[in-house]
Amino acid sequence: MPRRKKEQGKVSRDRKSLKHPVQILKGMHDVVYPEVAYFEQLRSVCQEVASRYGYGFLEVPVLEHQDLFKKSVGGTTDIVQKEMYAFKTRGGDEVALRPEFTAGMVRAYIENGMSNWPQPVKLWTWGPAFRYENPQAGRYRQFWQIDFEYFTSADPIVDVEVMQMGVDLLKSFGIKNVCLELNSIGCWGCRDTYRKQLKNYYRSKKRKLCLDCKSRFDKNILRLLDCKNEQCQPFKTDAPQMLDYLCKECNAHFKKVLGYCEELGLGYVLNPFLVRGLDYYNRTVFEFFTQNSENEGGGAKLALGGGGRFDYSTQLLAGPETPACGFALGVERIATLLGKDPKSISEPTVDAYFVQIGEPARVRVLGLIEKFKRCRVRIGFDVGRESLRAQFKSADRFHAQFAVIIGEKEIFDNTFILRDMVSGIQETFPIDTLMDVLRDRVK
Ligand code: AMP
Repeated sequence: MPRRKKEQGKVSRDRKSLKHPVQILKGMHDVVYPEVAYFEQLRSVCQEVASRYGYGFLEVPVLEHQDLFKKSVGGTTDIVQKEMYAFKTRGGDEVALRPEFTAGMVRAYIENGMSNWPQPVKLWTWGPAFRYENPQAGRYRQFWQIDFEYFTSADPIVDVEVMQMGVDLLKSFGIKNVCLELNSIGCWGCRDTYRKQLKNYYRSKKRKLCLDCKSRFDKNILRLLDCKNEQCQPFKTDAPQMLDYLCKECNAHFKKVLGYCEELGLGYVLNPFLVRGLDYYNRTVFEFFTQNSENEGGGAKLALGGGGRFDYSTQLLAGPETPACGFALGVERIATLLGKDPKSISEPTVDAYFVQIGEPARVRVLGLIEKFKRCRVRIGFDVGRESLRAQFKSADRFHAQFAVIIGEKEIFDNTFILRDMVSGIQETFPIDTLMDVLRDRVK
């Protein structure tokens, strides 16, 4: 094709593509107001509760080697087999977007030599996770999680501390009717015996199971117990229960967990079918739910998060033996619940709003903002606006107690007007007393 024609072809293709806006990927969502305000609120509550329980913050990468998840979450799990965003980089590395946080946290624990840190090591993080699932209400392909992990103790009281903290956190977010379900899935030894029993039980029923469960039968028999498919439900009732197969040590551990829960008044529901089918879990596993009439599905229980003990995880990644326990919460689900109660979101507020009239005042206001960096007075301003009315409207929207008004006269006199936004009373002060006056007046 002659070059000119080729270029013309390209231009018309480009024009065509202008008519088709690029849209967000299926299952992804922008976090915009008001959801983003709930996200911010949740994060600040996390920070407060984390420091109360002695957790430090860390960030782990979104992208990791696929092997990290294969080895710790498990190569036969749905998460790794069906849901992981996995690809090869230009350099040939086989990588994956994290489908969950624990694997990365454990890798970080090992790689940063945290076994040499003062013990116990308590860490929390927050960020997006990715799973290629069927998007539906409350289920996304990119979703945010809050993750708390407690390293270096096998003591059953730690399981209870971690669960109590999860409940405390959810209640601090303002969620009512938080319900904790728990179970024990034993250790590698007793779980093996249980797996065999479960296989014996399900063998004759295999052809009546859903397609997924048919394949789980060989790959990950425990996952049959948390299948939500209608056709598999009737078989669960008579299935053998893990609690009947716990070895002596696991049994004693779980009894202590239940004993501590009762002593502390931490309410729980024993759920023998709760298995959390990831490879790294052992002994205590738990999930947090909320149940109220406003949930999607009218009263159905909504899973807010879950976790458990993962004493094997460091060994699975060839690290030093380190018992640990933790949980992850789904941020969108919690934000949706908060959105149902508009009172739960605190509106943005400032103490004083700067209102400027004329070009020199605009520049002066911008110069003053810098000085308030380390001052406890919260200020608002918008030097992009000229209309007085619009600026006062904005001051009202931020519930400002005071407006600091600077016009031509004030620039000339080196003063400012302080207007009480409730009474409307105005006073004039020298500009160099601005900080002191505001500190003194702001309640
Ligand atoms: P999991 O790691 O699967 O136990 O998930 C912990 C919590 O994260 C769940 O209880 C949900 O609240 C949330 N969650 C998990 N998967 C998704 C998803 N695809 N979309 C939104 N939230 C999710």
